[in-house]
Amino acid sequence: MKPTILAGLLVCSALGGGCASSPVPFSPPQTSAGASSSQGERVPPASTEAEPSGRPAVTASRSPLECSQTALQGGYIVCRTHPLMVVTLDGDPVARADAQGLAVIGLSRSQPPTAVIGLAPPLDEPAPFDVRTARADVGVSPRTDGVSRFTMACGKIAPQTAEEARHAEVSEEKKAEALKEVFPPSGDLSFILPAKGRTSSPFGAVRTYVPDTSSCQGRTSVHNGLDIAVPTGTEVLAPAAGVVLLADPDLYFEGGAVFIDHGRGLVSVLMHMSRVDARTGDRVVQGQPLGLSGATGRVTGPHVHWGLKFRNLTSADRSGDLWIDPSVALSSAGGSL
Ligand SMILES: [Zn+2]
Repeated sequence: MKPTILAGLLVCSALGGGCASSPVPFSPPQTSAGASSSQGERVPPASTEAEPSGRPAVTASRSPLECSQTALQGGYIVCRTHPLMVVTLDGDPVARADAQGLAVIGLSRSQPPTAVIGLAPPLDEPAPFDVRTARADVGVSPRTDGVSRFTMACGKIAPQTAEEARHAEVSEEKKAEALKEVFPPSGDLSFILPAKGRTSSPFGAVRTYVPDTSSCQGRTSVHNGLDIAVPTGTEVLAPAAGVVLLADPDLYFEGGAVFIDHGRGLVSVLMHMSRVDARTGDRVVQGQPLGLSGATGRVTGPHVHWGLKFRNLTSADRSGDLWIDPSVALSSAGGSL
């Protein structure tokens, strides 16, 4: 079984009970019932018990906060709450619910086995209920990521000349500027693969880049996206609807690349394109062609790299941003809980 498919199955089965079937209906929070108390007394958190399989079974939280029942390290949790509430992960603000009350919480590859989700009041507004009583404990399955090794030219591993360093620096500035832009969601949370082809390298693999000469140092990093092996010239499609934050034919590491903001903190990045037809500021629908695949940037051959960045929209400096596993987005059913 390919690791990518394994990751997908893990997510599918993990989300099957609470995420892949019917959405959890959401009703406005009641301050006198459910998890809240007018006296502000503490309500016991949702209980966590181990199933015979060893997978933690988590009791769904009660209104005013409903979340996916389980998740995967490097994946994400979907929660439904009051619109515009700030959502916390293990005590830290990480997301803001959209106008429909839907929030996405990205998880790091080292997320502990239980993710504790809570709420904080919306900025500049009184809380509509006692947020201290809202809590959901979500079981997080561990990842098993592989290792891989690549041989490539020094200039593909890191900038070697002043000209390359300047190219890399300008590329970083363009990306940082683009990622300051935030748009409301353009659609639901359903995603498709950006190209039809074999997934050749999963998210999360630890990669060592070995130089093909002795004139530079190698480098080890985590593969922060999903690779699809397709020949140069294959159409690259928008994985979901959104707004193009950046479309550039020549970023240093990414090559021809398109960044799409899907809302709720999620940004797709399509890399190594031979032709970029999308333009910065375009609104795109799911499946819309963005350009053609290629082998530009830091690559060993033609493929589409799909990265999925989770942005912590409660943080102004992007310090809480994470790369998350796109295969999780493929296997969660349209944002249902
Ligand atoms: Zn890749």
